[in-house]
Amino acid sequence: MDAADISSDLTTVLYTEEQVHQRLAELATQIDEDYAGRDILLVGVLTGAVMVMADLSRALRSHCEMDWMAISSYGSGTQSSGVVRILKDLNTDIAGRHVLVVEDIIDTGLTLSYLVSNLRSREPASLEIMTMFRKPEAQSNQVEVKYVGFDIPNEFVVGYGLDYDGRYRNLTSVGTLAPHVYS
Ligand code: 5GP
Ligand code: MG
Ligand code: MG
Repeated sequence: MDAADISSDLTTVLYTEEQVHQRLAELATQIDEDYAGRDILLVGVLTGAVMVMADLSRALRSHCEMDWMAISSYGSGTQSSGVVRILKDLNTDIAGRHVLVVEDIIDTGLTLSYLVSNLRSREPASLEIMTMFRKPEAQSNQVEVKYVGFDIPNEFVVGYGLDYDGRYRNLTSVGTLAPHVYS
């Protein structure tokens, strides 16, 4: 079959699957050390974080559980407003738990900032954040992110869970889309 390969829609590959896995292995080692003797509750933010959750959790040697939230941020188009609606809440009561939020990407950090204050009000024993990618603007935001995969330029990227209009999440590498995709 002469199938079109979605990876040909990328103009630039920022990180290959191997580079992502290599970095996750480093972060997992650090997380295992930091959480020694404590069970971790990984909280993934749907849908973008599914790939990071799957790979990070398997790179860990610690006991961990997984739970998921789905949120939608109100706002005009591509601009995040920071006003967030919970579409699916956690199944787990996080009070007294060591929560590690697993994120795909932080841009303005507004979504995360809402999420963190919401989760804090539930009184977890600890609350930290891990993100695979972080854009420059996120650093001006108040939320402290303990574990960062890669700091990336301020460009719109897809792949490894990140979508454009619902597509490209299943690309194994991460990169920028060719202009023809947008037109
Ligand atoms: P923030 O509230 O930090 O501005 O927005 C975070 C959310 O915006 C991410 O969870 C993701 O859904 C989306 N987002 C931000 N930057 C990108 C990007 O470069 N590519 C994709 N596909 N989504 C992004
Ligand atoms: Mg996200
Ligand atoms: Mg998206």
